[in-house]
Formats: sequence, structure tokens, C-alpha cells
Amino acid sequence: MKDINYQSVLDEIIHELAEFEDKGEVASYIPELAKVSPEKFGVYITGVEGQECYTGDYQERFSIQSISKVFALALAFKNMGESLWSRVGVEPSGDPFNSLVQLEHEKGIPRNPLINAGALVVCDVLISIFKNPKDELSAFVENLMGGPVNFNLKVFLSEKKHAYVNAALINLMKAFGNIKNDVEEVLDFYFYQCSMEMSCQELSKAFLLFANKGKIPLTNEQMIKEINSRRINAIMQTCGFYDEAGEFAYKVGLPGKSGVGGGIIAVNPGIYSVAVWSPKLNANGNSAKGMKFLEMLSAKTGSSIF
Ligand code: GLU
Repeated sequence: MKDINYQSVLDEIIHELAEFEDKGEVASYIPELAKVSPEKFGVYITGVEGQECYTGDYQERFSIQSISKVFALALAFKNMGESLWSRVGVEPSGDPFNSLVQLEHEKGIPRNPLINAGALVVCDVLISIFKNPKDELSAFVENLMGGPVNFNLKVFLSEKKHAYVNAALINLMKAFGNIKNDVEEVLDFYFYQCSMEMSCQELSKAFLLFANKGKIPLTNEQMIKEINSRRINAIMQTCGFYDEAGEFAYKVGLPGKSGVGGGIIAVNPGIYSVAVWSPKLNANGNSAKGMKFLEMLSAKTGSSIF
């Protein structure tokens, strides 16, 4: 990050983004998410050497939703190692995040851990490993972000009440024998994980280990093996944006993950992690302005890993 003044790049992008016509819409299939102000916008960039730059609503917490799947995956992978892949694949799906289509063909083995079906399997794995999976996941995330994480009860209950598609996914996988625990217990843990709230600042710090070979830069603690960090980055790169992963690789060229709360995290290995939040989503369920912002950041700083 030393050779580039990221704060002035950020200011330049914000100026240019004023022209961006945001045609996105706030997610409404989880009613509680529809209540968020559509105009919110925040960015936070953290460098592996401690540099920071930010703008807008970067301190406001929002529902990180699917971004939490990466934390759960890191924890499961840390404990299970490569045997995790007997339960879930590492191939992009090319389908929407909650699609049922491939599950039947692939006998209940989801394509990857970042679509809903795969994240449900990861939750099932964590329930089998830990006595208190919720506490273990919170402790893991809190260690990464260096402070307490919040779970939003209203979002949790709102999603639980409208859980039709996720319930269909888990029941289909249970029928194929790929869910070992009680389906209600797994759904409960999954919705709990998705109700995690973080600010761009907290998110960017929590993901810095993926830019730093699995180590938290501040404490030097090796949270996950270097090879696991590299592999999770590969999964984020190929599977982190639902059916828009190819487009994100093409335009931004960084591993990352989005959530229907409008957050996106992206990692530039060896250099920085960046979190952006803008609640209006495009047709693929990714933050429309967040995608545009990252495309501009990558172009102006030459950040693409390709
Ligand atoms: N909790 C959301 C769901 O299961 C997560 C979706 C997302 O952020 O992609 O539908």
C-alpha cells in the first residue's frame, strides 16, 4: 500500500460515484432487512501493515448475512482439514445462492460452502464438532476483529419465520444423508450466524488474516494455516458472488464475499482487505454500488490479482 495514496483514491472514487445511477433494491425476502435505509454507504480499507482509510458510514453495523459463511468455513476447515470436502465441494455453482437445482443431481452434496446449501452443511459439521457451536463461532470471530460481535435477534427471527427455501434445501440434503444433526438445530445455527452484525471497519479488520497468510497482523497469531487461507481465498474468488462470481473476477479480480445485507468484503493478498456497504442489491443479490466501487478501486490501484 506504500506506493499509493489510498485515501486520495478513495476520495476520487466517491466523487465519481456521485454520477452512478443505483438501480438496485434492498433485499426484502427477509422483511427485517427491508427496513434499512437504502442510501447508506461506507468503506473501510485495512492494510496488512496497519494502514487504514475510510469514508461514509464505515462505523455503522449492518447485517453481514452470507459474509458470515466465510468465518464458519474457516472454523470448520481448521478443525476438519481436507476431510471437509467429502461433505461439500469447491466448484462454482453458477446458480443463485439458494438454488435447489444442483442438489438433486449431486445427491445432496452442495457445490461449494458459500452457497446456502453448502453453508448449511458447514453448520451441521460445526454442530457435530462443538458442544456450543454458537459460542465457538462468536469467539473465533471476536478474536479476528478484536472486539465483541453483535447478533441481531430481530433479523434472526425474521429470517427464521420466512425460511421456506432454506428449509427445503436442508430437508433435501437430510434425505440424501448429508445432514447428520436435527434439521431445526442446523437451521437455527445458520440463521444465528447470518444475523451477525458488523461495521465496515470491523469486517475489514476481521478479514485481514486472509490477506496475511492466515495470521492476525496485530497479534501475529496464526489463526488458520497458510495453505487453508490460500484455499479459502480461492473459494471466495470462484464462489463468493453467487452467479456473478465470474463477473467479479473479471472486473475486480480479488477474492471476496458478498451478503444480501449489502456488504462486500474483498481481499488483496499480502496488501489489504476492504469492506464496502451499500444496501441496494443488483439482480444477482450483490450490492450494486459496492460492486461498482470495488471495480473502480481495483482499476485505479491496479489491485487485480490477475
Ligand atoms: N441468510 C440469507 C439466506 O439464507 C443469506 C443470503 C446471502 O446473504 O446470500 O437467504
